[in-house]
Amino acid sequence: MLVVCMLKEWLNNYTNVQNKSVAIIGAGISGAYTAYYLAQRGYDIYVIDKNQDIAQGASGNPQAILYYSSSGRDIYLDEMFEIGYKNSSNLITQLMTPNIHYNNSGSIHIANNQRLMRQHTNIIKRRLTNFELHHNDLDIVKNEYNTYLIDKKSIWLRPAVLIAKLLSHPKITVLTNTCVLKISITNQDWQLSLNNTNNLTVGNIVICTGFELNNFSQINELPVIPNSGQISLIPKFNTLNKILCFGGYLTPAIDNYHCLGATYHPNQIKQNISAQDHYFNLHQLNSILDKQLLIDVNSLNGRVSTRGTTSDYYPIIGPVTTYQLFKQTYYRLGYNPKQRINIQCPYLPGLYLNIAHGSKGMLSSSFAGQLISQYITNQSITCTNELRQKVHPHRFWLKRLIYENNNSH
Ligand SMILES: Cc1cc2nc3c(=O)[nH]c(=O)nc-3n(C[C@H](O)[C@H](O)[C@H](O)COP(=O)(O)OP(=O)(O)OC[C@H]3O[C@@H](n4cnc5c(N)ncnc54)[C@H](O)[C@@H]3O)c2cc1C
Repeated sequence: MLVVCMLKEWLNNYTNVQNKSVAIIGAGISGAYTAYYLAQRGYDIYVIDKNQDIAQGASGNPQAILYYSSSGRDIYLDEMFEIGYKNSSNLITQLMTPNIHYNNSGSIHIANNQRLMRQHTNIIKRRLTNFELHHNDLDIVKNEYNTYLIDKKSIWLRPAVLIAKLLSHPKITVLTNTCVLKISITNQDWQLSLNNTNNLTVGNIVICTGFELNNFSQINELPVIPNSGQISLIPKFNTLNKILCFGGYLTPAIDNYHCLGATYHPNQIKQNISAQDHYFNLHQLNSILDKQLLIDVNSLNGRVSTRGTTSDYYPIIGPVTTYQLFKQTYYRLGYNPKQRINIQCPYLPGLYLNIAHGSKGMLSSSFAGQLISQYITNQSITCTNELRQKVHPHRFWLKRLIYENNNSH
């Protein structure tokens, strides 16, 4: 409740720009959704990525899971995932081929530790209608708690196909192999300095670069934590047609491989596949299997990439200003965060962030794409004000202001 009062000034008086061209930096899932929603509204979109192809960052795993899993404790996180699930599943079914690019398979959730058991109890208590409780009649897993949940809504998908479909909109131009080295604003227009061509000038920029902020001096002090992870590709060993969740996850096999995930390495940006990470994934899986899978981890293929995460588990979505401008305007909040300061926020006009989607980016990024398009095209915002504030970039500027104030004496 306190936060609602503090952040009001940052939400009101927001002015958007008239120029209908938008550069989206990053051709992962968050860039693709943002581009698609804006293109649908008639905007001219450039999607720029430094890699040789689209979907080469965290969004490039061969299979990903989209499941609406209630956190059981945070109603705004649940709101974000619910909107994200609705948006994503609509577009997936509209744009992709069932059984080949995605499947509404549902997922089986095994509680193999006390934490997951508590989560399951919570879900049962809340009578969430997408879940069904089963007694243990699954022959591939051992289950000391004797029950498991089926989430009927879960979907597996091939993220790269979805990204390609979203970006194939006629209003979208994709520039790969193009790194944005710097962005700057003059006379209300944004210039992007690119590594390989002339500069690009647009009215709006949306930064969708996951954990990578170094090239953007306006916002590179935001506390985004890189968190690298690895999935392992396991040769097909069962015919289960549902996703199996147990702390890790195992997808139904496609092209004769299951995707087994995933490891977490906070504050690390790993680029090479490691046998230890394969071992960790396999060990997690074996802890629930009735019959152990004996595989030489050195023989496995997989994929490593880095997510962007935050300390409060929310992504960073919305218009933004620099910390310096924020501090000049709202420095008094550092002394008393409860007071109201009725001054218009000095946003950098036309600059937006859509980053740090953590480990459920397939869900949250469609919510984010829709929210950014509502900001830019001046539509009414369809999520609650509380959620809008939870994901707002300036929550971290306020925290820093308070921290600096507390530590200045
Ligand atoms: C191992 C692993 C497994 C996961 N499994 C799941 C799952 O099953 N379900 C789920 O919902 N989520 C999952 N996630 C999380 C999900 O993958 C991410 O949240 C999501 O992909 C983030 O998408 P993004 O578009 O924000 O970032 P990315 O996909 O990383 O895209 C960012 C892009 O920005 C580009 N870029 C960066 N800087 C520049 C620059 N200066 N100029 C030009 N281009 C630039 C990069 O090249 C990159 O292509 C997983 C993550 C990992 C690491």
